[in-house]
Amino acid sequence: MIEEKTTILVIYTGGTIGMTKDIDTGALVPFDFGNIYEQMPILRSFDYKIDFHSFENLIDSSNVKPDFWIELVGVIEKNYEHYDGFVVLHGSDTMAYTASALSFMLENLNKPVIFTGSQLPMGVIRTDGRENFLTAIEIAAAKEDGLAVVPEVAIYFENQLMRGNRTTKFNAERFNAFVSGNYPLLAEVGVHIRFKKHNMLKPNFKKLKVHTRLDFNVTILKLFPGISENVVRNTLAIPGLKALILETFGSGNAPTDEWFIGCLAEAIQGGLIIYNVTQCKSGSVELGKYATSLELERIGVIGGYDITTESALSKLMYLIGEGFPKERIVELLKLPIRGEITIE
Ligand code: ASP
Repeated sequence: MIEEKTTILVIYTGGTIGMTKDIDTGALVPFDFGNIYEQMPILRSFDYKIDFHSFENLIDSSNVKPDFWIELVGVIEKNYEHYDGFVVLHGSDTMAYTASALSFMLENLNKPVIFTGSQLPMGVIRTDGRENFLTAIEIAAAKEDGLAVVPEVAIYFENQLMRGNRTTKFNAERFNAFVSGNYPLLAEVGVHIRFKKHNMLKPNFKKLKVHTRLDFNVTILKLFPGISENVVRNTLAIPGLKALILETFGSGNAPTDEWFIGCLAEAIQGGLIIYNVTQCKSGSVELGKYATSLELERIGVIGGYDITTESALSKLMYLIGEGFPKERIVELLKLPIRGEITIE
């Protein structure tokens, strides 16, 4: 019996990776994926069926909006049954936000959704895009006993495969642009692709459930020494605000000024969810460890453990959008629902 080929859908959304030099002008222009096989004949060496879907409106990822996430999730949903894996070509600037959002929007994901991009355009001699792209395809196609090796949303960049909702872009220049400060790698790539299966989410074999009802009444307030009452009060007074991510110092610490604690307590009593996420790229919020976080705990600020800001943002948008009652949202914020936090 002839085995059916592994099928991969590459979704091109924009970003540096899709750029190439125009022969006439020398300017960077989006790559035409319509003739990808002429531009990258090496793709024929894969024994997979690779199809391409290009967004009509190719964007620099700084222009990503939640509508874009909804469109992307729609493409994956529509094609979910027809492909073994998905590769998403995306600008690196907001890739960690999009990968986090998709992890929440795609419940019961049992197939790989591998994001990649590059720091140098594909059409430039020293590009990192070529290796990132080809390896991402290989990772999305990897199977063991007929099952996907990476049944989750992940980012592949410069030899490392990371859980999408654990990553942050931390370098604007180096090829290794991302860090997963609180979760080990899902794979390391050198001569071989070494998958770390014990770090992967387990497939649950349930039907994919897509969530697109995000609620955008969420904002982020980064603390800094000298933050004024004016800034805090005005942020809390944003009309319709339902949740605030408070980016705190170290293990979840904040000023102990009476006005500060007072206005947060008032907002919480008025129904606002305040979610404490550390500004550190590694480590966890531990409410009550220092006196400077005890008060936050007392007034009902919720500790975000080791969640990234990118992940906290889309988790809140998703949970509030689903219309769960506040107690249930608070409960789910304290639990890993897509592998996004570690609870010791
Ligand atoms: N500004 C670009 C973007 O995020 C950078 C990149 O692709 O890496 O779309």
